[in-house]
Amino acid sequence: MNYEKSELEMELRVANKSKRYRDCYCHTCKKDFHYLGIARHRAMHRDKKEDCKITFTNGDTYLYEYKEYKEYS
Ligand SMILES: [Zn+2]
Repeated sequence: MNYEKSELEMELRVANKSKRYRDCYCHTCKKDFHYLGIARHRAMHRDKKEDCKITFTNGDTYLYEYKEYKEYS
């Protein structure tokens, strides 16, 4: 069990390290995006009426629910 735990911690450390180089993360696509490209990427989800969850450079995570807009457009 201890071994598994340390493996997980190592993975988290790698993930945190890579976060320094890659600014934003789309949980929906499981992909990293440059902070200048994330707005465009979010618009892509909006255009496709897809929900998306994005973590920004400052660490804030937002869930955008575009499915709801479908009814009004
Ligand atoms: Zn995405």
